[in-house]
Amino acid sequence: MRPALPCFIDGHPVLTSSRFPDTNPATGLVVRDVCEAGADEVDRAVAAAKRAQPAWAKRSANARAAVLDAIAAGIDARRDDFLRAEIEDTGKPIGLASLIDIPRGAANFRAFAAQLRTLSEETFQTVTDDGQEAINLVVREPLGVVGVICPWNLPLLLMTWKVAPALAAGNAVVVKPSEETPHTATLLGEVIATVLAGAGLPQGLYNVVHGFGEKSAGAFLVAHPDVNAITFTGESRTGSAIMGAAAPSLKRLSFELGGKNAAVVFADCDLDAAVAGTARSTFMNTGQVCLCTERIFVERPIYAEFLERLKVAAMGRVLGDPMAATTTMGPLISKVHRDKVLGFYDGAAAAGVDVVCGGTVANVAGFDGGFWIEPTLWANVKDDSPLLTDEVFGPCAAVVPFDDEDEAVARANATDYGLAAAVWTSNLKRAHRVARGIDAGLVWVNTWYLRDLRTPFGGMKRSGVGREGGRWSFDFYAEPKNICMRLT
Ligand code: NAD
Repeated sequence: MRPALPCFIDGHPVLTSSRFPDTNPATGLVVRDVCEAGADEVDRAVAAAKRAQPAWAKRSANARAAVLDAIAAGIDARRDDFLRAEIEDTGKPIGLASLIDIPRGAANFRAFAAQLRTLSEETFQTVTDDGQEAINLVVREPLGVVGVICPWNLPLLLMTWKVAPALAAGNAVVVKPSEETPHTATLLGEVIATVLAGAGLPQGLYNVVHGFGEKSAGAFLVAHPDVNAITFTGESRTGSAIMGAAAPSLKRLSFELGGKNAAVVFADCDLDAAVAGTARSTFMNTGQVCLCTERIFVERPIYAEFLERLKVAAMGRVLGDPMAATTTMGPLISKVHRDKVLGFYDGAAAAGVDVVCGGTVANVAGFDGGFWIEPTLWANVKDDSPLLTDEVFGPCAAVVPFDDEDEAVARANATDYGLAAAVWTSNLKRAHRVARGIDAGLVWVNTWYLRDLRTPFGGMKRSGVGREGGRWSFDFYAEPKNICMRLT
């Protein structure tokens, strides 16, 4: 019998009879079974959240911030458990998980605790033309129960990015983690249960229902009449499906969706920094970050040298045991996803694109059954190639030359997505012009993945609906209410 990972409802682990396997992508071996929530368990989780929320919303902002800080400390205290769980679920290297995934899980709670302590409310002093006087207050009311639906690429990081502000704003949450990476959501339940008990708060503020999307926990959560909002990170296509399913109940929605992000590299850039930064933006987390670069536009005078140096950087990625400090690239998340990425690799080869490096599965000694793949670069890619239009979500990019700034911006914008971009140049005026010209929610100049959690985060076009981050999160997770008090 394999161990079973329970759902987490009203402060308790909940075993269910329907189970699905959780596979370690580095080995291809099933490590545990996961308890799938049916409509009954989703009902119980939503009911627990609904019962718990009013007492939480009544606590002062300072008291809520203290609870968020305690959750962050609880994650830090169990850092090794979170690390092991995340690495087993994703296969990502320990160097990455210990630098980004787990610390950011704790940092998200601290960031929104800090926001909560400094958040202000607005007032308007009103005098009408006929002499009436009033004070208009704008206050924030919590939404109630928020459904949080998450992807598998940065499981704890992306889940806490939504759970922390939802709780900060006085809501209760029901989380549906990805079926590929369920473990850290349940672990977080254990941490939060201890903190809530210590603070004398009801347990139902944080609940986890495991399962899939359609006809499973995800769909049940979206359709539930007592869920007041859904915050979702995942594929654009799934976002459309959720929007359709949420329409009858007119739920409030926040979507962080797919990307087809560009790097624009000008000849006057610091080439060492541009090569290193673009290698990182293409291959980090095996290319499975929504912000990863999949289209690299390089000004022609440095194109050949840039491509050669990027190839060297790509081939220098170290695939291996995720627990080894020397490993810099893990496997893809699943066989299904690797087959999808290989579809792009094979399609590129069949279309006569130049395969600069990589292009197929990778063999990693000792990890035969894992879903490994080679870091891959393509050149001579036609403008209408799927390599320039479709999100691959793998460790790969098309590298294309350009001749002037207008062409670079036009190429960067020739996509249905608009999540992120990176511009590499030493000309500050041009950096600003190009950054303004690119249709993306976030443009980095001479860097990549440098995040300040107080800034708005989200995508244009098919990359998202709305913004989260900093005070923008409170615009989503709370209802602004106007109270007009007549003075005369
Ligand atoms: P996905 O859309 O397949 O699944 C995401 C979540 O939605 C999972 O928990 C899944 O079970 C659930 N789901 C699927 N169908 C559903 C339905 N009909 N109703 C309710 N829930 C449903 O995405 P994924 O493969 O897990 O993640 C990869 C995608 O996420 C990529 O497109 C990537 O770009 C995107 N992403 C975006 C951001 C961002 O911030 N913009 C961040 C990370 C990942």
